[in-house]
Amino acid sequence: MSNKNGRFQGCSPETKLLKSGGEYTEHGFVNPAIYRGSTILFSDLDALHNRNQAYLYGRDGGPTHRALEQAIATLEGGHTALLCPSGLSAITTALLSLVSAGDHVLMTDSVYRPARYFCDHVLKRLGVETEYYDPLIGGDIARLIRPNTRLVYTEQPGSQTMEVQDLPAIAQAAHARNVLVVLDNTWATGRFFNAFAHGVDVVVTAGTKYYSGHSDVMLGAIIASKAAARQMAAGHHALGPCVSPDDAFLVLRGLRTLDVRLKQHMANGLTVARWLQNRPEVERVLYPALPDDPGHGLWARDFTGATGLFSVILKPVSEQALANMLNGMSLFGMGYSWGGYESLIVPFDPSGYRTATPWQAAPALRLHIGLEATEDLIADLKAGFARLGGVC
Ligand SMILES: *Cc1c(COP(=O)(O)O)cnc(C)c1O
Repeated sequence: MSNKNGRFQGCSPETKLLKSGGEYTEHGFVNPAIYRGSTILFSDLDALHNRNQAYLYGRDGGPTHRALEQAIATLEGGHTALLCPSGLSAITTALLSLVSAGDHVLMTDSVYRPARYFCDHVLKRLGVETEYYDPLIGGDIARLIRPNTRLVYTEQPGSQTMEVQDLPAIAQAAHARNVLVVLDNTWATGRFFNAFAHGVDVVVTAGTKYYSGHSDVMLGAIIASKAAARQMAAGHHALGPCVSPDDAFLVLRGLRTLDVRLKQHMANGLTVARWLQNRPEVERVLYPALPDDPGHGLWARDFTGATGLFSVILKPVSEQALANMLNGMSLFGMGYSWGGYESLIVPFDPSGYRTATPWQAAPALRLHIGLEATEDLIADLKAGFARLGGVC
């Protein structure tokens, strides 16, 4: 199969997102076939000994996987992409590919909580020390870098608390000491944040969220710069995470409409966030696309858009009042994950586990604004606030 991707190099990101990976299609079909397989036969003994054929073994993936990897690498702007069965496994595979016993890892205090669990339990047991830093540290990260620091892990905006990090400043300080920068780019995706242009070496992402867009599949990916690609591939190969071709197909299907979905999530998100800002029950909306958000300056400098996920700090309210509000929602569902077409609402409270930067605000809600009509979503929230009652 010839590489036709070169034909689209000069096109805009929207077009490239539709075309990348297209060389893995056959017989005139628009989309690639789903090849299921464990055994892949070698054409002859030379091919077996020298591994010089395109596909070797089911665990390494087939054409469906290659098409998705290429589309993801193009979207995120990296050199290569590797697939994992969940976003969390992309995070743990990337970390295990990089660290050795005795290493020191700098991890943002705003990190996705299960990644924190992995560091505090598994990496710790393997003799790797994790130090949490203030997500707003910027170039001052230099003060925390030790001779054995292996990587600086970033995520933006922070999970739940939505801090925007100064990635170029962090990358400059890290690279001056030969330290790699890893970014969880799940929120913005490569469409709204070009990680590699801002100094990131390795991107990890949960394809479970916006890539798939339909709340029907789990998938993760590791995207590497040219310099980091070999080490990521070696770690991935050694650990053996793999994805079913059906799941790869579903995520590729989702990716083709990522651009239009994200634009609508942003428009809907802004409409609902602005409405929430004016509610008496709301203390603060945490969403960097809003001009008065503390992260707005960095967001406006570095991002090309915002997605549908943000948080809201409420004025003090009883547990029962909150239950009355959340249990009666009709459009907003209560559940984890996000990035699908539907709106979600969950309470959160990171005060029990943040260590570098204490978090005091509670109660707080995380909202995912889906693709429903915003007037319907606002009516649902308005009725919810009426059930919350008596706080203003
Ligand atoms: C959901 C999420 C993950 C993990 O993805 P899974 O596919 O659920 O394992 C990682 N990072 C962020 C920021 C997430 O929101």
